[in-house]
Amino acid sequence: MVDFVKNGVGGNFFKDIGLELPKGEYIEYVAWLPDRQIILYRDVEKWKKERLEKLGSTNKHKAFWNLMDKVTNVFWNASRNNLKLPIQSPRDLYTALKSIGIQNLYLIKYLNVTMLDVLKKFDLEHDKPLAGFISMLIEDTVHSTIDKAPFINAALGTTIRGAGLMRAEGGMKGFWTFVSSHYFEMGGTIKKGHKVLALKQEKENWLVETSKGNFKSKKIISSLPIDATDNIFPTSINTKIEKYRIKNEKDRGGAIVVFLGIPESEVSDQLYCHHQILKEYEKKLGNGNNMFISISAKDDIASAPIGFRSVMLSTHCELYEWQNVTEEEYQIKKKKIGDELIKIARRVYPKLGENAVVYEIGTPMTYKKFTNRNYGSVGGFKQTLENSNFNAIPQNIGIENFWLTGDTTWPGLGTVAGLISGRIASEYAER
Ligand SMILES: Cc1cc2nc3c(=O)[nH]c(=O)nc-3n(C[C@H](O)[C@H](O)[C@H](O)COP(=O)(O)OP(=O)(O)OC[C@H]3O[C@@H](n4cnc5c(N)ncnc54)[C@H](O)[C@@H]3O)c2cc1C
Repeated sequence: MVDFVKNGVGGNFFKDIGLELPKGEYIEYVAWLPDRQIILYRDVEKWKKERLEKLGSTNKHKAFWNLMDKVTNVFWNASRNNLKLPIQSPRDLYTALKSIGIQNLYLIKYLNVTMLDVLKKFDLEHDKPLAGFISMLIEDTVHSTIDKAPFINAALGTTIRGAGLMRAEGGMKGFWTFVSSHYFEMGGTIKKGHKVLALKQEKENWLVETSKGNFKSKKIISSLPIDATDNIFPTSINTKIEKYRIKNEKDRGGAIVVFLGIPESEVSDQLYCHHQILKEYEKKLGNGNNMFISISAKDDIASAPIGFRSVMLSTHCELYEWQNVTEEEYQIKKKKIGDELIKIARRVYPKLGENAVVYEIGTPMTYKKFTNRNYGSVGGFKQTLENSNFNAIPQNIGIENFWLTGDTTWPGLGTVAGLISGRIASEYAER
């Protein structure tokens, strides 16, 4: 979870709802490039030293990182001060000017260039370790590639550790229990397992038809991924978002995950619990070439019993690779990629999975089943200049008493973006 610190986006959310920050560990992690390891320190000074030592310290490198620092400082602050894109009203414009600061407005030009454009500006596009390192962080945070990711989004994504990266006790389930308990105490209601089948407008109200009954509401904030809603929303809403669905169709992507429950001895020989591995510079990213390892903390018994740890390996993949396969082919393919991910992770933990008590593999088919997203796509859309920021899907699409939120809307994927889009939608509803 990103920016879950005092005065951060996550910190502000918890302040607003009157709850302390969840318990968890703030993480630093190791990036394993084919020929070197880089520690992504949370401490800014340590990180500045590490990147020059491991990724080059020429004047070009220094100038590149200076720009990255400038842009990320300005835009992390803007995010924390309620920047909202795309700009739809004078109020949005005022907030943008105020949160970015008049003196920093010249940086807005970087909204229209890619990370590759910036590397070229500093004559660093052929620097394999630097480009490889940035590429893997870009894929992980904005689900995109170095030649397509908008520079500012990519810069924010690649600097998330400085913004307080946390793994909650008990993982995301622990986080969910923590937040939902508070919501119940505030008088909130959660209906689990109620699949929304249709949303209809009835005079003053919205009618929500679900698999377990119908509900009426004056206002709706929909957090359903927009590409899973064409059969749910009425024509009035579909007409407004069809152009976005069409534009983003090619920008969907998938993920493969391996969940392990293992004896602690299999991971006890490393200082860090989180790692990101790039296997080869030359090969396309995904399917293990750029893989994240996340291991529960030693004392986190909500994640695994004493003496054991829970492990998640995750990597990106293309959705088409999982379409039109028979059940038999699917099971073989799934087992093969699961074993491959464990093999790659053994670069860090040579004994990983030898005596696993839990070994589950998730594919786009799994995501399709559990999140209902088309083809099992995950993580919002792959961010490009054409679909992000001024071209992103806004929370307000011009339908009375109806707003969108979630990772298919601005600013995009991930927990921090989810909080920002949720805040914007709820402010509209409140207003
Ligand atoms: C492997 C992987 C690792 C990730 N790691 C990180 C990370 O470390 N940090 C981070 O910040 N982000 C991470 N992300 C991204 C993050 O998980 C997503 O961006 C985030 O979950 C998006 O939240 P959301 O609420 O928009 O959508 P979702 O989490 O998809 O929630 C939408 C919900 O709507 C439900 N739904 C769908 N259709 C219906 C219907 N008809 N009726 C009722 N309910 C419905 C779904 O079941 C789902 O629960 C990761 C993603 C993946 C796939």
